[in-house]
Amino acid sequence: MASAWSKLRGHQEQRALFARSLSHGRLSHAYVLAGPDGIGKRVFARLLAQSIFCRECPPGQIEACGECRACRSFEAGTWPDYIEVGLPEGKSEIPISAIAGAADKRGREGLCFELSMAPQASSRRVAIIDDAHRMNADGANALLKTLEEPPASALILLICESADALLPTIRSRCQTIRFFPLTEADVRHVLLDSQIVESPEDARVVAAMAEGSVTLAQQLLNPDLRKLRDVVAREFALFEAMKPLDVAKQIAEELERISSGTEEQRQNAQWLLRFLAEALNLKLRKLMAGDFSEPLLQRFGVRSGADLLSTLLDRILVAANQIEANSPVRLVLDALFDELARMMRLGPVSAR
Ligand SMILES: [Zn+2]
Repeated sequence: MASAWSKLRGHQEQRALFARSLSHGRLSHAYVLAGPDGIGKRVFARLLAQSIFCRECPPGQIEACGECRACRSFEAGTWPDYIEVGLPEGKSEIPISAIAGAADKRGREGLCFELSMAPQASSRRVAIIDDAHRMNADGANALLKTLEEPPASALILLICESADALLPTIRSRCQTIRFFPLTEADVRHVLLDSQIVESPEDARVVAAMAEGSVTLAQQLLNPDLRKLRDVVAREFALFEAMKPLDVAKQIAEELERISSGTEEQRQNAQWLLRFLAEALNLKLRKLMAGDFSEPLLQRFGVRSGADLLSTLLDRILVAANQIEANSPVRLVLDALFDELARMMRLGPVSAR
């Protein structure tokens, strides 16, 4: 039997878990699918819905053939018992109308209303709420009423990064299933399969830095970010010859040039820190391998050189946490580079 699931990478444990619940007749009415962005939670949720509707799905399994009438209708977006809502393009909130209907039709359309109707073509109605933490208070309260007395045929899947971002009253009425980052190989395959990149070499480079997320990989394909990475790699390869404060200035200017707003600057600064860590890890590997083209090896030896690099890597982590906690990017980077410069001048504590 052909399987629509071939488009999903990873998450087989979660799939087995749903299959077990279904075969034991213990499927809950509501689940939170929680995990980092860009790892395939929405693809998973859609495949789960499709498997529930598929006419060829063997009993007790989560399988969708991709070929029967139900599968074809689902894939075409015309299956009557399926509802999906999410953030409208460019908006930061899921409108209340999507959950509970427009003001003049409140309670007579929208996700909650549709879930209250008997299924038309199958035994269940399935609803997906993507970016569920972006429901406003009215939307969340409307959904809460449905969760408190869910229609027998309803299955509701809430997708978000962390269940903690949902109202506790909503969270407590759902079963949370955690999803984890993809493997590097899976990210590489997704990038190539979905033709996000064409060259296997590009796929390899971005997958290695994407932390298991296709979304991060896609950001990394932005030419500006690639350029920033090249600047960091070049400057840090020299290391001995570099003047950290000049480099800091150059990098900070580059960062401002490619970022159009505080939020983007923050995101790009996190990339910059990843690139720095990558450059330092590369040096660490060369050092440990006794590669004499690595200037740190000649200057400090393996042990002290490795100490220095570990201290620098720890310092980068501190900066990443500061940016995460909303400290001003420019201040964090100035302090970081200032300290990197001092550490590189003085060497590791053990060598002083
Ligand atoms: Zn099917």
